[in-house]
Amino acid sequence: MKISVVCFSDELLIANSLLSQISVKQTENSIELWVLGGIDDTQKVKKLNIQKITEIIPSEQAHLKEPVCCADAVYKCFCRHPVDVIVLPSGLRGDDLAARLSVLISGGCMLQAIEFSCDESGASVRKPVYSGNLHATFRFETLPLVLSLIPSPNEEKEQSNDTPELARFEAKTEPPAWLTNIEYESTENGDLLKSSELVIAAGRGVGKAESFRKLEELAEVMGGVLGGTRPAVYDGKIPRERMIGSSAAVLSPKCSIVFGASGAAPFLAGVEKSKLLIAVNRDPNALIFDNCDVGVIADCNEFAEALLQKYRNG
Ligand SMILES: Cc1cc2nc3c(=O)[nH]c(=O)nc-3n(C[C@H](O)[C@H](O)[C@H](O)COP(=O)(O)OP(=O)(O)OC[C@H]3O[C@@H](n4cnc5c(N)ncnc54)[C@H](O)[C@@H]3O)c2cc1C
Repeated sequence: MKISVVCFSDELLIANSLLSQISVKQTENSIELWVLGGIDDTQKVKKLNIQKITEIIPSEQAHLKEPVCCADAVYKCFCRHPVDVIVLPSGLRGDDLAARLSVLISGGCMLQAIEFSCDESGASVRKPVYSGNLHATFRFETLPLVLSLIPSPNEEKEQSNDTPELARFEAKTEPPAWLTNIEYESTENGDLLKSSELVIAAGRGVGKAESFRKLEELAEVMGGVLGGTRPAVYDGKIPRERMIGSSAAVLSPKCSIVFGASGAAPFLAGVEKSKLLIAVNRDPNALIFDNCDVGVIADCNEFAEALLQKYRNG
């Protein structure tokens, strides 16, 4: 079984922690470290629990900022030195790269795992499911597999005194033809949503982008924060960090007001701990009405407009 831990040069210590988390139950195995962008501080290398390191150097340094190019560079290294499992540190950058790589190498993909082990016949991956209420173990007998692993700071193996062997792989990277322009947008972290006492939650029923903007305004005048259901996020109406539900933020504010959401279980898991849950939906049979404290059967945008007027007029 060949395993490669892949990280960026600013993630060497995180990668070291991943290396100590990997449990390999077989004698014939090799674990390598692939560092995207190369190693700038050779002192750090001595602290790593690894025997072989490959620096992956893309054609241009600027390509390291572009996920498509990073995935391409690692893919080219993989084609030259195939491995059975690629492990990346979980996080926005690692999860993104893992998903892209799994498509490129036609392998399996598992994100945000907490444990990984392998033996002669395959790999086992453990990760929290159902809002972290359960830990599931997934078994992969068809490889390759790309995995993002949440680094655990507690697991430190004894350091070896050997200096690792260092190799260099020059990856000829080029942004794909369809990528004509790149704009970077700064994102907030999800803490804003989690710390707010009042959450306005918008669902697909809110409809047009301008109606979402109106709810953003309402949240602002009421002193709350706007979040939304998965369709609202996937339709690009709400930033990803504002998604509510079992696969995103699980909230417990003083009050949540839900506009135009059906109340599907994964979303409900994110708002059901609100001290007061108010739902606005035009369908009297909507599931959300079975689970809220106050239900309003109305067009959610008309209701939002009326509420906004009330707040604006003091
Ligand atoms: C593994 C998995 C994980 C998931 N995780 C999440 C998660 O974390 N968060 C999440 O949100 N979803 C998640 N989902 C998706 C979830 O199952 C639902 O599909 C989703 O929550 C539905 O979103 P919605 O209520 O916005 O849309 P819909 O279900 O389409 O509901 C829209 C509602 O708006 C109402 N409506 C329409 N127009 C109006 C109007 N003008 N006025 C008032 N009401 C109106 C309709 O009556 C309807 O009830 C997950 C799904 C899976 C399979």
